[in-house]
Amino acid sequence: MQDRPEQVYRGDLCVVGSGAAGLSAALEAVRLGRKVVLVDAAPQLGGQAVGAALGTICGLFRNGSVPRRLTHGVMDDLFEFLFARGDASLRRVRGTFILDYVPNAWMRWAERRIAETGIVPLPGAIVRGMERRDGHVEALSLSTRFGDARVEAGHFVDASGDAILAWQAGLELRESETQVLGTVMAILEDVDTGLCAEYPRSLYHELIRRHAEEFGLVRGEGPVFVVPGTRKLLLNLTHVETPMETAGLALAGIEGRRQVDALLTLFKRELPEAFGEAKVAVYGNAGIRQTRTVVGRSHVTVEDIAAGVRPPDAIARTTWPIELHGEMSGAHWTIFGEDHLHYIPFGAMLPVGLHNVVVAGRCIDAQPAALASLRVMGPCFAMGRAAAAATALNDSGSLHQLDIAALQDSVDDNLTLETTDSWANEAVRETGPEAEGVGASK
Ligand SMILES: Cc1cc2nc3c(=O)[nH]c(=O)nc-3n(C[C@H](O)[C@H](O)[C@H](O)COP(=O)(O)OP(=O)(O)OC[C@H]3O[C@@H](n4cnc5c(N)ncnc54)[C@H](O)[C@@H]3O)c2cc1C
Repeated sequence: MQDRPEQVYRGDLCVVGSGAAGLSAALEAVRLGRKVVLVDAAPQLGGQAVGAALGTICGLFRNGSVPRRLTHGVMDDLFEFLFARGDASLRRVRGTFILDYVPNAWMRWAERRIAETGIVPLPGAIVRGMERRDGHVEALSLSTRFGDARVEAGHFVDASGDAILAWQAGLELRESETQVLGTVMAILEDVDTGLCAEYPRSLYHELIRRHAEEFGLVRGEGPVFVVPGTRKLLLNLTHVETPMETAGLALAGIEGRRQVDALLTLFKRELPEAFGEAKVAVYGNAGIRQTRTVVGRSHVTVEDIAAGVRPPDAIARTTWPIELHGEMSGAHWTIFGEDHLHYIPFGAMLPVGLHNVVVAGRCIDAQPAALASLRVMGPCFAMGRAAAAATALNDSGSLHQLDIAALQDSVDDNLTLETTDSWANEAVRETGPEAEGVGASK
């Protein structure tokens, strides 16, 4: 084989994972004057927000009857971009608000901002090794289609969702003892969405339960909602086992897409007025809710979330329910009251044993049920912002010794501010029965 030189990239910060958490971290870091390298194993940027076609941003708003936003930062630009294009709207669900978006629009926004800000994007690059000294990661080695690559940086953000850096460092990790299922999302097109908006969700759920055996359907309930201003419908009605190895990931995707096809065939047969012409426009990649987490300086429990007590090192807050996907048949929800808020401690983002790595997103240290609230995109944005701020404040030494008051100052609006955005007021959708009582499932 011909010898190829290793590709070498250098930055102040290397972010692994370009989902909600990683993109937020990368863009916030650029805003703080840092040079950023953004690595993602997937061939496209955007993480599950784009590749798994999630379609809604949850956990951004307080509970209540008006949309009061809890999380702010560079991702405000995403909301403005989406609303300016007519590619987003708000829905009131489960006593709070969720922001529906068009995944392609998110992808274009992310790509544009990455190019404009000079972030070095490395999609299709899989972390397969690291060099570290005295608990400091110095470089990551990557496999790419163009051969081996290496990223050297002063700090690293692990937004991989799989705690890949702690795993590569051989550190202790946590895996859930109870199963947390994944989902393949799908977007249907050429649907009579006017009619669909009048159907209660219970209609879909009853149809699925009645014909489950005939069509091989496993999930009896979940959200179905119209993509704003289109003839498209987003389905979150499949469940698949969460894979922990490569073939399993592919097979989970294949099984989830089989369930999507079966749902479409069922709806075409039973609801021909609305679905007679329908086709699948987008099959999401296998959506993974949870795999493994780091062992951090602190561990968030369900009791912490229910109590809503602000920890001394809080860096973000949310009110999103605890949403457990432990059974094939559906999800179990714990919804909080109007005054409730719960918090993310910075300690849960700090893997024990690594001094210049901070975790953001769905692999922070939390009980699986606690993570089932904290891993939605609103808190992921906030964690990304705190991760970037922490690495900018910490020139050298250990993130474990960081001045927490200075970190909290730099993300103060995510702890104290509640805004009512002009776009949010104008964009609340007149929701039909599709939004009542059953809500979103993340
Ligand atoms: C089916 C489903 C539906 C959901 N719906 C919603 C929803 O509607 N709204 C909501 O707010 N939340 C939803 N969620 C919750 C979701 O888990 C989070 O909101 C969010 O996607 C997590 O973002 P993240 O940045 O932590 O991780 P991800 O978006 O998963 O990004 C992690 C990235 O890291 C990359 N990566 C992993 N390992 C490596 C490696 N070794 N080397 C390089 N790169 C690597 C991956 O390719 C991936 O792109 C849903 C989850 C699922 C599974």
